[in-house]
Amino acid sequence: MTSPSLPLEALKTLFPFLFVVDESLHVVSAGPSLEAVYPCEGQLAAQRFSIKRPVALEWSWQALKASLGRLVVFECEGCFALHMTPCLLESPRPMIAMCGAPWLERAEDIMRLGLTIKQFAPQDHIVNYIFLMQRLTVEAQRRQEAAQRDERAQAELRQLKLINDERERLSSLKDEFLAGVSHELRTPLTGILGAAEGIQEEAFGPVPEEMSYPVEVIIHSAEHLLGIVNDLLDLSKYSAEDVHIDPVMVQLDALVHEVISMIEPQLERRGLELRLELESPLMVECDQRATRQMLLNLIGNAIKYTAEGFVRVSLISEAQAVLIHVEDSGCGISSEAMEEIFEPFRRGDALARRLHDGAGLGLPIARRMARRHGGDITVRSELGQGSRFTLRLPLRQPQAD
Ligand code: ADP
Repeated sequence: MTSPSLPLEALKTLFPFLFVVDESLHVVSAGPSLEAVYPCEGQLAAQRFSIKRPVALEWSWQALKASLGRLVVFECEGCFALHMTPCLLESPRPMIAMCGAPWLERAEDIMRLGLTIKQFAPQDHIVNYIFLMQRLTVEAQRRQEAAQRDERAQAELRQLKLINDERERLSSLKDEFLAGVSHELRTPLTGILGAAEGIQEEAFGPVPEEMSYPVEVIIHSAEHLLGIVNDLLDLSKYSAEDVHIDPVMVQLDALVHEVISMIEPQLERRGLELRLELESPLMVECDQRATRQMLLNLIGNAIKYTAEGFVRVSLISEAQAVLIHVEDSGCGISSEAMEEIFEPFRRGDALARRLHDGAGLGLPIARRMARRHGGDITVRSELGQGSRFTLRLPLRQPQAD
């Protein structure tokens, strides 16, 4: 078979993977794509190409001439197989050109060899190659995007951790500062209060009539301030990770009665109905002072934020814990305010703020105390529909190591 009198250069354009041998079976020329990935010009063909098919075909000029126009598969070691058709070239000295294309089944191989679409001719299974390359490109892009997403997520995580660490650092600095300042304030405040009470009781001599009101204001204000200072101290104390509670066996129903008797005057002043549903005796292992304070806060709030109706306190014991429900028919809490009332200094809805003054420290302290016991304080409420706070305390404290 003779090539249709095309010059070799034109043949190379048609078959960029072609190679040409002369009678001595040296490669006298190779297509630009083949030469780029598998240099063979000037070398003995048998050293660069092994014949895979037909199996019986050997490297000889005669055998090649007998195969003109047939399909011959050559193996380029470690690269690819070439599916070629030998053609006799019309030239002064006889030459056979192997015209065809590589057999590349996997897009990865094309990429590995660094081949691009430009290096193929349209008849070189080009449609397949384009498809394979596109698929590979899309996959590579996806992998790259996934890696970028991963990297971004990691960076965000690192950033969040930094922010969190900084927040924790600032928060513990704030707690330390509050604890320090409160401590420093408490001593002079106690002094002021003691001295004012002494004046009121005329321990330092008779007090003129017109002095009794200002002295009362001093005592009232100092007590109020001392309350806030003590709350601040409690807040920082129960925020600390290493704070220990002092658990003892406490008869909870009796403690509820004690708290109620402390705030009975407020109940009466408001004309509220008190409903008690207590199980007795109900023994719980807890820190007595902290539990009294939690009850005082919850029952005190129920009274403070209820203009009319009732306050109900009920105890329900479960297998491992006791639930103390404090329910009221008061102003209720909106869902937005419910998110924040356990945060220090947050005072919830305007309606509640109008009903009573406060510092917004009671609930945050109470919840921290409950959590220190392995329990919690939760709330169910609706604005204008009353509230139900639930204090959950485990019946027993886990044994300390
Ligand atoms: P304070 O009562 O000093 O403001 P707390 O921390 O005890 O501080 O309560 C925080 C806020 O939660 C209150 O300001 C109020 O808005 C809301 N709150 C607490 N208990 C009740 C209740 N029983 N009914 C309605 N609102 C309540």
